[in-house]
Amino acid sequence: MKFSFSNPTRIEFGQGQIAAIETLIPKNQRVLVLYGGGSIKNNGVYDQVSKALEGYEWEEFAGVEPNPTVETLDKAVAQVKSSKVDFILAVGGGSVIDGAKYVAASAKYDGDGWDILTGKHTVDAALPIGAILTLPATGSESNGGSVISKKATQQKLPFMSPFVYPKFAVLDPDVIKSLPQRQVVNGLVDAFVHVCEQYLTFPQHAPVQDGYAETLLKTLIALGKDVDAPDDAWRANLMWSANQALNGLIGAGVVHDWATHMIGHELTALYGVDHARSLAIVQPSLLRVQFDSKQQKLTQMGKNVFGFEDGEDTARKTIDAIEAFYQSLSVDTQLTDYQGDKDTAISKILSQLKNHNMVALGEEKAITLEVSEKILQEAVADK
Ligand code: NAP
Ligand code: FE
Repeated sequence: MKFSFSNPTRIEFGQGQIAAIETLIPKNQRVLVLYGGGSIKNNGVYDQVSKALEGYEWEEFAGVEPNPTVETLDKAVAQVKSSKVDFILAVGGGSVIDGAKYVAASAKYDGDGWDILTGKHTVDAALPIGAILTLPATGSESNGGSVISKKATQQKLPFMSPFVYPKFAVLDPDVIKSLPQRQVVNGLVDAFVHVCEQYLTFPQHAPVQDGYAETLLKTLIALGKDVDAPDDAWRANLMWSANQALNGLIGAGVVHDWATHMIGHELTALYGVDHARSLAIVQPSLLRVQFDSKQQKLTQMGKNVFGFEDGEDTARKTIDAIEAFYQSLSVDTQLTDYQGDKDTAISKILSQLKNHNMVALGEEKAITLEVSEKILQEAVADK
């Protein structure tokens, strides 16, 4: 095993911690507060941020949408350049934080920011970012990943860079009290799949990473059982689990997959499916199609996470249990909401995968377009 691990994001965890930002952003920095559609104006978070920023020169950019688009974010980039902003404070969920990463990197690049997503430009500098997390799901508050969409071409592409890790992230579990249940559930599912993308892969005798991943999976399943009766501890545990699911630790040195995410992104780009819900649609089918390479780890997950006996059918039962977990949260595990007939929908998704060069996905790069088609045959419901 060989890896390099650094997670430079400082975490300020707990109720009332938004006030701490005044100790985390140097006083001489001009700050841009970046946020979404206005939930922070209704739940008191905007007021807490304004208070903590007293004495700073700051301005704002509102309207970053879920699945943030370059069309919107490029306006923020223009504002950052013209106002000479030094520091970007993202206040929101994964979309706002991902958006902040794009803005921070684009502000240091003279060309078209979309070049970062297509790989034409490799990020070599970015403005510093801080994150006030309002939706536990993506782990974006303490990782170097970002997923950006382009409305004009219905594309949704990721980029990774060590330059865009937030300097700090504030995780105050109280701010998620205002989340609609749909988004709470999305957070549970996204975090669960993040762990799976790093854990349900070729066994590598990595008991630290595996044991940590299994603890996160068990915690998320337990939280799912009490999703209708959250209390302070419940919210804190969801926030911390979702953060740990994708802050690099469980993925250090082990094989990753991410095919569920890459196929899921196309469902979001084409049909507007919520990110987490796109994963619940793709993953069970993907695991069944990739059964041979996943069997050993699925058996381990069955035993250590779901408490199954070791047996020939343990791996299959584990896939069923994962699917049942999503369904217990009222999350669909097949795509039902699409236009036209099933074959047309599948060929549209496949042609997007092809356009984005998503032709060798997964831990073994074995998910070719033919394999994706098999996955989609199960994942897309008959009409
Ligand atoms: P989101 O798209 O950031 O937010 C979804 C909705 O929740 C928005 O309408 C938002 O409203 C609302 N919301 C957020 N916080 C709220 C609160 N405290 N109270 C009430 N409403 C609130 O959701 P997300 O699941 O966190 O992010 C999804 C995006 O992250 C996708 O684009 C996905 O591809 C990406 N992603 C990134 C990573 C990564 O590592 N970087 C990993 C997985 C997924 P407002 O807009 O009004 O605030
Ligand atoms: Fe995700």
